Amino acid sequence: DTISPFVEFKPSIPQNGLVLAWLTRDNTKPIRPEPGSALHTRFGSFQHSRMISSKYGTQLASSSSTQAGFIYLLHPTPELWSMSLPHRTQIVYTPDASYIVQRLRIRPGSRVIEAGTGSASFTHALARTVAKTGRVWTFEFHEPRFQMAKKEIEDHGLDGIVKCSHGDVCKNGFIPACDETLDASAIFLDLPSPWLAIPHLKKVISKNKIVRICCFSPCMEQVQRTIETLQKEGWLDIEMVEVSCKRWEARKEMIRKPEDAIERLRDIKRRRNEGLKKRNERKLAEIQNDETVSEAQESEEGMDTGSMAAKSRLKRKAEAVSAAATEEEEATPPTEKYILDKPFLPSEYNPWGKGKRVHEGEAGYEWKDVSKVEAELKSHTSYLTFAYLPPSFPGKDEQLTSK
Ligand code: SAM
Repeated sequence: DTISPFVEFKPSIPQNGLVLAWLTRDNTKPIRPEPGSALHTRFGSFQHSRMISSKYGTQLASSSSTQAGFIYLLHPTPELWSMSLPHRTQIVYTPDASYIVQRLRIRPGSRVIEAGTGSASFTHALARTVAKTGRVWTFEFHEPRFQMAKKEIEDHGLDGIVKCSHGDVCKNGFIPACDETLDASAIFLDLPSPWLAIPHLKKVISKNKIVRICCFSPCMEQVQRTIETLQKEGWLDIEMVEVSCKRWEARKEMIRKPEDAIERLRDIKRRRNEGLKKRNERKLAEIQNDETVSEAQESEEGMDTGSMAAKSRLKRKAEAVSAAATEEEEATPPTEKYILDKPFLPSEYNPWGKGKRVHEGEAGYEWKDVSKVEAELKSHTSYLTFAYLPPSFPGKDEQLTSK
């Protein structure tokens, strides 16, 4: 079966087929299951033989007796691949990738130029979108990176769609390794100096279609130089965008009154006093017990008046401690609500302490809708500069759709 799993969904995991083992939110491992091998993780060990022929999406329990963890066996997608790929450079993450693909109007059958290839993260997104009838020509001047990307593209069965070329696009332009006319209508440049590559584009882009470009640059100075070159080269409708990605979580929060907070403080104090009182009572009981024992011994042995006086001082002291604790407790009377609602039993809901667990939105309580920012979503947050070039010999459709 030669169709790439990145392009076509396969229901079950073939032997030696790519599967992305989802361990945690930030840890997804690409594996190719082979009989006799195992994936060893801190959640336990997972025999490859149990993965082969399982359905993609299966939750697999660990086979170790001591670690009862599990993993998910996920189908490869460009989105998951960008989370698990071996990083060789900075990469384009899904929030940017999806926006760029849509703005460049890339679709099945599109012909796309990309430079540089880097870790081939965005290359996978492009390949999946142009699918079987389209083409992606990707250029990289760093030899080892080019070799690694080429191998990865072949391993993923994408070499029919993606053509990797080794070369400096700023110096020599876009010369593909294969003998093909590029005739591209979408360009993506993730290079330090895109303004040096832009003048070479006219030789390789479509003459009768609108051509759209996106340059991905981390600093404003690069954006300015890119815009100057785009203007000089006749590109139109130049616009710069920054994708700033935040995920908002919507949920309900229980409405708690200020009196609840005051009562919580009083409750803490009351509990502490109760604890103190009990401790003092216990101490007093211990002292009294000691006294009874020693009085019994003394009556047997006879005793001196000095030791009797010391004991009565001790007793008075203990009584004073106990009285002080009682006074302190009486100084913080329960609020009316507390008296009406009685002291909380452990199984009941207690708005200011431990007790029954109340589920979000549960009837019988007051709730308000709130939204919170989730942990930062990964995106490179470079500036995206978009523009388009009208066709030199427009076809009928292009005249109609041209901006
Ligand atoms: N977009 C890629 C991804 O998502 O994985 C990452 C690209 S990386 C940030 C930039 C790449 O451009 C580097 O691998 C670098 O070697 C390559 N590069 C820089 N200048 C180049 C040039 N003049 N010609 C070809 N490749 C170049």
